Amino acid sequence: YMLEADQKICVFIYHKEKRMPETPGSLDLKKVAASFPGVEVVEDLFEDHWETSAGRLEQGIRNHDLSRLVFVSDRGSNQSSLFQKEATRLGLNPDQVSLVNVKPVFGGAESEPELVRERSGLLLKQALLRLQPAEEPTLEKVETVPRLLILGSGPAGRLAAREALRLGFEALVLVDGKDPGRVGYYDQVSGVQEDEPSLSEMTAQKGFRLVTEAKLISLEGQAGRFAVRYLDGEDRVQEEAVGAALVALAPEVKPNFEAFGLEPSRRALPLSQLETLLSSPEYRGKLIPPGGLTEIVFLSGLAAESGPPVLARALSDARKIQGLENTQVYFLSGNLKVAAEGLEREYTRAREEGVIFFRFTGQLPVVKAGEADLQVEFFDEIIDRSLILNPQVLVVDEDLLPHPWLKELSPVLDTPLDSKGFMAPDQVYALPVRAPRPGIYVVGGSRRPFPGPEEIRGEVEEAVLSAAELIGRGGQEVESRVRIDRKKCTICLTCIRSCPHQAMHFVFRRPQAHPLACQVCGVCAAECPMDAIQIKDFQDAVVLREISGNFTDRKFDTVAPEVVAFCCQNSADKTLQQALLFREPLPIGFEFIKVPCAGKIDPDHV
Ligand code: SF4
Ligand code: SF4
Repeated sequence: YMLEADQKICVFIYHKEKRMPETPGSLDLKKVAASFPGVEVVEDLFEDHWETSAGRLEQGIRNHDLSRLVFVSDRGSNQSSLFQKEATRLGLNPDQVSLVNVKPVFGGAESEPELVRERSGLLLKQALLRLQPAEEPTLEKVETVPRLLILGSGPAGRLAAREALRLGFEALVLVDGKDPGRVGYYDQVSGVQEDEPSLSEMTAQKGFRLVTEAKLISLEGQAGRFAVRYLDGEDRVQEEAVGAALVALAPEVKPNFEAFGLEPSRRALPLSQLETLLSSPEYRGKLIPPGGLTEIVFLSGLAAESGPPVLARALSDARKIQGLENTQVYFLSGNLKVAAEGLEREYTRAREEGVIFFRFTGQLPVVKAGEADLQVEFFDEIIDRSLILNPQVLVVDEDLLPHPWLKELSPVLDTPLDSKGFMAPDQVYALPVRAPRPGIYVVGGSRRPFPGPEEIRGEVEEAVLSAAELIGRGGQEVESRVRIDRKKCTICLTCIRSCPHQAMHFVFRRPQAHPLACQVCGVCAAECPMDAIQIKDFQDAVVLREISGNFTDRKFDTVAPEVVAFCCQNSADKTLQQALLFREPLPIGFEFIKVPCAGKIDPDHV
C-alpha cells in the first residue's frame, strides 16, 4: 500500500523522562501508528535514558532492515538534529528519517485528552501517509559568478557595493545619469550617506567598476550566473556575467507646488530648500530678517499624504524656525500620521513651543502668490470661521516618487512594479527584499517612498548577504528537487512558460529546473500536460495517497461535508499549525494536505 512489499517502517516515540506517566495522547499515537500497514515497530525512547534508547533504536534498524524511520516528539523540532545524527550513524540517509512534532497539541495534554488524541493522531497519520521510498538525492553541479550587479549609486547602492567588496565579490555599478557622484537631495535627508565612502574612494578599490549613462538591455540566465547586456555611456554594447543583481535607486523628490497653483520662488520654498537655508547662518538671516515679526506657513500632507520621514522633517524645521526670534509658524496639515517613532513627541513639542496647527479634512487652503505678498485663505473647522494669513514665507512639503529608471528596468529584470511605480516584491514568506525572480534583490527607496536610514542599511545587508550565500554555493553540487522524465517530455515548453521564478531552462534540448533558481513551488509539475515532472516530497503518488488515505476513514453517518484543504507550506499550513498550537477548533470533517505552493494543486488531485 505504502512502500515496496519488503520495506518496513519503524515509529519511535520520544519522551523526556522515563518516569513520566504516559499521556492519553501518547497512548493514542501508538495505536494510530500500529494500525498503519508497513509499520513494523512502535517503540518508546527516553531522553534521560538515551544510551539504552539509542541501543534499542540501533537494534530496531538492524533487526527489521528498516527503510524508513519516523520519530514522534512532543518536545518541539529542536530534537531533529539529534535524530538525524543518530540515523546517519546507523547508516540511514536524511531522506529516510521523518520527524513528527506533536508539541503543539501535546502541551497540557491532560486537560483535553480527546482533542490531543484527535490532533496528534491527525499529525502522525499525515506523516505516515507522506512516507515514500527513500531515494538518493540528485545532485547538480552549478557554477556561479562572484560579481554583483548594482543598479544605482545612491546611498543604498554605495552601501551595497561596499558590502559586496567586503565579502570578496566584485561590484559592477550601473547608473542611468551622467553624474553619479552628485549627492541628490534624498541622499542628504536619508541620513545614510554620512559614514559612507564617497564614489571616488570606492572607484579606487579593486573589484569596483562604475558605468555612467548606462542602459540595461537584458538580463538572461538564472540566479548565480546571469548574462547582463547594457549600453555604456558611449553607446557600446557590453556583456558580462554576474551572480546576482540588486536594485538600489533612490526615489525622486517632487515638491507639491502644483496642488496650490504655485511656482517656486524666493518666498515660496520647497522643504529641502528651506533646510539648505536653515543650515547656514548667512542664509538664515536672509530668510528671517531682523526686525518685525516673520510669519511662516507650512503646507504639509495636504496635497498628498506625507510619509513619516517627510512629516518628521517638516515638524523639526517648524520647531527650528519657531525657536528663532520674532517668528511665528503656522502648520497647515492633513491628518497627521504620527505613528513613527518620536513623531508624537515632536508634534507635542512643536505645539508647546508655540507652533500653531490647523488641520484640514476637506477643502484645501487657497493660496495667492502676488509680486509682493502671499495670502493663505481657509476655513477652520474648529473655530468655524474663515481665516486669512499673510506670511512672509510659505514652505511646501515634498512627495517622493519612484525613480524613473525603475519603469525601464522592470521588464528587463522581469520584476513588476506596484500601482505607484515602486518595485515592491514583498514576498510574505521570503526575504522582503527578494524579487520573485531568484537572484534579484530590491532595496530602500526602490521599494517604497519613505525608508528610514536604519531600514535602508538593514535591507542592503540582508540582500547582499543573501546574494553572497547564493553565489557562494557555486562550484558546489546542489540538490535538484524537480525531476523531469525525459521520455515523457514532448518539449511543449509549458513548464518554461509557467514557472513563476524563471527557473526552467534548456539543457541538452530538454527543460531542466535550475537548482539555485528553483523555489520548488511545483507549478511546472501541475501544469505539465504529460505528467513528466515530479517534485521531491510532493510526488503525485504521495499526494494522491494522502487524499485517498484521508477518505478511508470517512464517516458516512455525519451530515457535515468532508473538507480537504490544500495548504500551501508557506502560508496556509503555517496558519494551520498555529490553529493546532492554540487549540482552535477545526471544522468537523476537515482534512489537510500540505502542498509546496497553491500553484502545485493539480486538477487531477481535485
Ligand atoms: S511541460 Fe512537461 S512536456 Fe512540456 S516541456 Fe515541460 S516537462 Fe516537457
Ligand atoms: S518547481 Fe516552481 S520554481 Fe521550480 S522549476 Fe518548477 S515552477 Fe519553476
